[in-house]
Amino acid sequence: MKIIIAGAGAMGCSFGFMLQKSGNDVTLLDGWQENIDAIRKEGLHLQDGEAALSQKMDICKPEEYTGSADFVIVFTKSMQLEHMLHSIRRIIKDNTKVLCLLNGLGHIETLKKYIAPKNIFMGVTVVTAGMKGPGSAVLSSHGRTEIQNIVPEGKAGAGLIVDTLNKATMPAVYSDNILWSIWRKAALNGAINSACTIMECNMLELGTVDGSRDMIKHIVSEFAAIAKTHGITLDTDSVTDYIYGFTQPQFDGAKHYPSMYQDLIKNRRRTEIDFLNGYISRKGKELHIPTPYCDLIAVLVHGKERLAGL
Ligand code: NAD
Repeated sequence: MKIIIAGAGAMGCSFGFMLQKSGNDVTLLDGWQENIDAIRKEGLHLQDGEAALSQKMDICKPEEYTGSADFVIVFTKSMQLEHMLHSIRRIIKDNTKVLCLLNGLGHIETLKKYIAPKNIFMGVTVVTAGMKGPGSAVLSSHGRTEIQNIVPEGKAGAGLIVDTLNKATMPAVYSDNILWSIWRKAALNGAINSACTIMECNMLELGTVDGSRDMIKHIVSEFAAIAKTHGITLDTDSVTDYIYGFTQPQFDGAKHYPSMYQDLIKNRRRTEIDFLNGYISRKGKELHIPTPYCDLIAVLVHGKERLAGL
């Protein structure tokens, strides 16, 4: 299968590497010149658990790619998605399937501007990955990816994507309700990632703060109120229990600093806040639904970005 990875950062390099290793013809598209130069010169290096792997891979800037594709995986940050889709619009033909595994909310509306709904596939992944530097990615876990078509005509395509990822040892399953999974993950990111970024702490430290469970519950209830207007039912109590569990010592990864913290505090990069609490805050205003926790969190995270000169 001819596969394009649109955004060859941590996740794009990891998925792209494994998809090519399993026999697909993969091209990476990225705008980061040092990354392009390193991969062209030395191939792509992937630390996959204990295994240090490397292989040659095609990479170019989106506007330089002249071929076509059976399947595209978009792997930019949320705020970069529209620009990437605009750059690759000529690659997307009537039969090109596009999978979006980005964190955050509102991506289906953006994808629909460029892609027919029958070719849009949404997913949620618990794969974790990072970049050591240009041309060198770390795939920390091959967690499970859930995938679903957004309209019934896409169901066979979703099955094909699930099979392709499983063959590439990236475990994937067909989801019956991907929108619920997307909203639950957004609530998780909107509660834990944002709070850990503002407080500059890890998840375990967040859990030790008096009132953190209550705060998580208020944030989840705001996500649930907006989810309801999209026809999605998030049960506030059970989702709060699920999220709070990540802050408890029994959870192995509780000492982890979440990705928003890594972006802003460690790497001085802008965050995906506008697609998490910021999305809830905007929708709340449009729909006259109060979302005071998300409003405040969005202001504070943007404030930290601004103070960091971003
Ligand atoms: P990243 O910043 O490492 O990679 C994004 C890449 O896209 C960069 O290399 C950037 O140069 C490229 N890019 C962006 N816009 C571009 C454009 N217009 N033209 C060319 N190149 C462009 O991000 P990531 O960590 O791989 O995350 C991607 C998405 O996956 C995010 O939504 C993130 O929240 C989600 N996610 C990440 C992880 C993780 O462990 N890293 C886990 C689950 C979900």
